[in-house]
Amino acid sequence: MFMKAGELIKYLEEWAPPGASWEKDNVGLLVGKKTTEIKRIFLCLELNPKTLDEALKLNCNFIFTHHPLIFRPLKNLNFTKSIKKQLIAQLIKNDIVLYSAHTNLDFTKDGVSFELAHRLKLQNVNFLEYEEDNQFKLVVFVPENYFEKVSSALFNAGAGIIGNYSNCSYSSEGTGTFLGNEFTNPYFGKKLNLEKVKEIRLELLVNKWKLNNVLTALTNSHPYEEPAYDIYPLKNKNVNYGAGAIGNLLKPMTENEFLNFLSKSIKSQNIRYCKGTNAKINRVAVCGGSCSDKYKAAISAGADAFVTADIGYHTFEEAQGSILLVDAGHYETEVHSIDAVERKLKKFLKENNSKIELFKFKGNTNPVKFLKI
Ligand SMILES: [Zn+2]
Repeated sequence: MFMKAGELIKYLEEWAPPGASWEKDNVGLLVGKKTTEIKRIFLCLELNPKTLDEALKLNCNFIFTHHPLIFRPLKNLNFTKSIKKQLIAQLIKNDIVLYSAHTNLDFTKDGVSFELAHRLKLQNVNFLEYEEDNQFKLVVFVPENYFEKVSSALFNAGAGIIGNYSNCSYSSEGTGTFLGNEFTNPYFGKKLNLEKVKEIRLELLVNKWKLNNVLTALTNSHPYEEPAYDIYPLKNKNVNYGAGAIGNLLKPMTENEFLNFLSKSIKSQNIRYCKGTNAKINRVAVCGGSCSDKYKAAISAGADAFVTADIGYHTFEEAQGSILLVDAGHYETEVHSIDAVERKLKKFLKENNSKIELFKFKGNTNPVKFLKI
């Protein structure tokens, strides 16, 4: 059985919702259409002539990348000189779907940073910093006999998720009142009559990107002409999404032992660092890509070492003596996330008895070269 691109995208977005990405990011379906039937998938960190060439040779018609090919708005598709636009032209010509999960893959569980933590065999891994301001509290007033119907519709639409728990809600009984004018047709009682009904106040958390779906489910399942509900913005930390990851090493190591272990674990031969407190490294924070600004959060979270990339001189200067701050390379700290995507998709395709074949770019697309002397 093959699948439409839309079905694959739906699955990927349950894991790494675009709504959880950085607001200025450009993620999701970048080229192509959701109705294309997918036969072969190609995974790579970024699209360039090398990776596209390989995808074409393998006859893949769905390409997943972490870095989005289109980031800033394009003013034209004049591809005379632009490599990027030539790539877009080739994708369209060959009816290939291009899909990117960028910061949404960074900010989700088992995404970029969790994969890095996994490579270092960190234990009890959690986010270094949780996302905030992306949840609402939905309060709905439901007549008693509709409680099951409305609550299950809301759960099915994605409300009520906290950590690894689903169907989370709180309910309390009370009395609702309403008086319909001459134009109403109330579900209970009569128009122009003050009605009192036993209702249940149902409360649930909703992620902002699920809110529209949840409100549609609410209006479809609620018996009233005008269901009563409130939406409150929350300041809660969202325990399911965040930046970076932190956990404990299997055994404490000296700074040097840790640097060697890191180099082997993620195959990074060009590690820059500043020395920490000289104590043994036990608790390690990681953040794939450019997260040098998070080193203070790593210190506050009790990390002895922080592994990220693109660290500037003055950040090293500031951090030295307080944490073993390590720049292990942008490419090197992110490329392993493609394995995480591969594992997720493999499982999904198997569960669906899909005939779609999965391929991964095996070469290296790191644009940064290192002089060997
Ligand atoms: Zn990156």
